[in-house]
Amino acid sequence: MNAEELNPFVIAQRQCDVAARYLPELEPGVFEFLKRPDKLITVEFPIATSSGEVHNFVGYRAVHSRARGPGKGGIRYHPDVTPDEVRALASWMTWKCAVVGIPFGGAKGGVVCDPKQLSERDLQHITRRFISELGDNIGPATDIPAPDVGTNARTMALVYDTYEVMHRGQNNLGVVTGKPIHIGGSLGRDKATARGGLLVTQRALSRGVLSDATSCDGLSVAIQGFGNSGGHAATLFHEAGARIVALSDSRGAVHNPHGIDPALAHEHKNDTGALAGLAGCTDITNEDLLALSCDLLIPAALENQLRGDNADAVQARLILELANGPTTPGADTVFRAKDICVLPDILANAGGVTVSYYEWVQNNRNEQWDEEDVNARLERIMTKATDGVIDKHAEVNGSLEVLTARREELGHDGDPLEPIDLRTAAFIVAVDRVAQVTLERGIWP
Ligand code: NAD
Repeated sequence: MNAEELNPFVIAQRQCDVAARYLPELEPGVFEFLKRPDKLITVEFPIATSSGEVHNFVGYRAVHSRARGPGKGGIRYHPDVTPDEVRALASWMTWKCAVVGIPFGGAKGGVVCDPKQLSERDLQHITRRFISELGDNIGPATDIPAPDVGTNARTMALVYDTYEVMHRGQNNLGVVTGKPIHIGGSLGRDKATARGGLLVTQRALSRGVLSDATSCDGLSVAIQGFGNSGGHAATLFHEAGARIVALSDSRGAVHNPHGIDPALAHEHKNDTGALAGLAGCTDITNEDLLALSCDLLIPAALENQLRGDNADAVQARLILELANGPTTPGADTVFRAKDICVLPDILANAGGVTVSYYEWVQNNRNEQWDEEDVNARLERIMTKATDGVIDKHAEVNGSLEVLTARREELGHDGDPLEPIDLRTAAFIVAVDRVAQVTLERGIWP
């Protein structure tokens, strides 16, 4: 058997290709343009590290699309960052912003480094040098970074400060989101990705994605990744009445079928640096966690965790993708066959960028909104977006023959269209919206 394609950019393009088949009127030239990033910047720089040696680092920033607004997307610090990973993540940002209807395009950045092996001082120097190298490629109206894997609010404060030093005399707060509250951050941003995921799950359940559950109350949940997304998800799903049966970080996983108290897990992780050894739990492997019998599995770590080679072992009935790109097309095929419903990343984790948008609006207006206000706005957006994707799913699956006939009429292949899953429904919504705006703006010159 051939090894499955795991290049995230190839996967991201393939997801678009599948969606495009259900948009027969889509202009092929526009679609080819939308699949590719507008630009990718590579910067290389030296840092005099705390160890006394000079190390060289490579950083990337991709802007996928600015058709619907400024580029928007996180900065990742991880040893496995590659140009194609950054390209893929930038394109998923474009589709995500379109799915939730916020006026941003898609971008992403990363520096190839291992934050766990670097001192706080080294990381500060990497951030300042990376941002100064990017120069005017980022800006409040052009491309706006945010936190991602390996970066946090402290990193965003440094991004802001570095940019501010280079651009005195104007309001620069909107150059980056996910900042600390007292430097223009938004209340509710830290939990927004997880809260958005909870809202999507609650809405999808109320719309019948599981035959025997209409709310999170009593659902058993396993979460892979215990950082910004997964750590807050544990707390919020627990508060919503779910039973958290397993958690993992990069060092291992813990399991307790009777339920884990997320507050104790956070305390243990803060004290020991890992989840392993949490009182009342059995230590299991990360692979074991993905195969646990539970209602809901939440991948909240990295790409390609659920693949053609391990998807068959998954016993969860519902998957909420808080991570970007955790499921490969091979795994999607298995999940469709096993009737496991996947709430796709470009919808499921869009709460983060939505509250980033609110932060940017507050920065531009010099305002600070109440957390209740932020959360209420987030709920409206996530509920509407979830309905939009579920409605599109039903609409397309109810008109497969008509769409197939239209494809033939327009000279595309006449192969019968297969029923779609929610991922393809979300991509159809997004690609259609970005294509429409691109054409309305006109192809320049
Ligand atoms: P983070 O660095 O805060 O946390 C990542 C977590 O994943 C850590 O607990 C790490 O130990 C764990 N991890 C890494 N490899 C693992 C493995 N193989 N098995 C189990 N755990 C593993 O990062 P984050 O910001 O929470 O981002 C996680 C995912 O969510 C990424 O895909 C990111 O792109 C996506 N995301 C984040 C945001 C956000 O607002 N931070 C928004 C949207 C999407």
